[in-house]
Amino acid sequence: MRGKMEERKVAFITGGSRGIGKEVATKFAENGYNIVINYVSDKTDVETLRTEWESKGVKALILKADVTKAEEVENVVKTAIDTFGKIDVLVNNAGITRDNLLMRMSEEEFDKVIETNLKGTFVVTKAVTKYMMKKRSGSIVNLSSVVGVVGNAGQCNYSASKAGVIGFTKSVAKELSSRNIRANAVAPGFIETDMTAVLSDAVKENIHNQIPLKRMGSAKEVANLIYFLGSDESSYITGQVINVDGGMVM
Ligand code: NAP
Repeated sequence: MRGKMEERKVAFITGGSRGIGKEVATKFAENGYNIVINYVSDKTDVETLRTEWESKGVKALILKADVTKAEEVENVVKTAIDTFGKIDVLVNNAGITRDNLLMRMSEEEFDKVIETNLKGTFVVTKAVTKYMMKKRSGSIVNLSSVVGVVGNAGQCNYSASKAGVIGFTKSVAKELSSRNIRANAVAPGFIETDMTAVLSDAVKENIHNQIPLKRMGSAKEVANLIYFLGSDESSYITGQVINVDGGMVM
């Protein structure tokens, strides 16, 4: 039902200002959900989409909040609840890389990635599930990575954070299933966003050669899976990790 505002479902996408998060927000908006997005530095990209969404009756809250700061996250969640009365879907998408070889990696590079990707997922999930538990319904989708499953040289911080997200997701799925809250993780391979734009052409060619489908994925292709897992279309799926990687890991 895409009618009146109060009948719409609500999706909260962390780091929804760019890349995969922006496509995920677009997918939920196209399917009639009201949208909550947070970001840390710039919302220009997603602000231009707001007008398009609003012309279809979709409301969007776009708020500045760092996922590692519980107080900022709680403010976003409170504003979302005050505005929409509920959050049906949470997508823990905000994430960063600080790549380096183990021997060269600073403690700061290690900590920053774990803090944003893993602790951030914990902070936001805790704040949102408080309301999902009261409603006895909800779906959580966490962004892991194939690198969290198989590892990657130069990314020990990132792969540890994404492996952590898998353990976190399975634990949350077990803990909250009795309240009708599902939790799943998606593990994208190489996807064309700002995060991978920094790779050289030589590295990209090498990557293509490792992918059976011989190309990087698009943010839209990841968003399609996330939408499926967030929506009731996947109502009997919980605690799973699903790759979207052109066959890279099988
Ligand atoms: P991206 O284009 O770099 O966008 C990252 C998003 O996260 C931005 O909206 C950014 O906000 C937000 N963000 C970063 N730190 C944050 C913080 N502390 N608090 C709140 N928001 C924060 O990245 P992407 O490629 O779309 O990746 C999205 C997710 O997919 C990440 O978890 C990533 O690890 C995962 N992933 C990506 C790939 C890939 O190949 N691209 C592969 C596997 C997994 P600002 O715009 O304000 O900086």
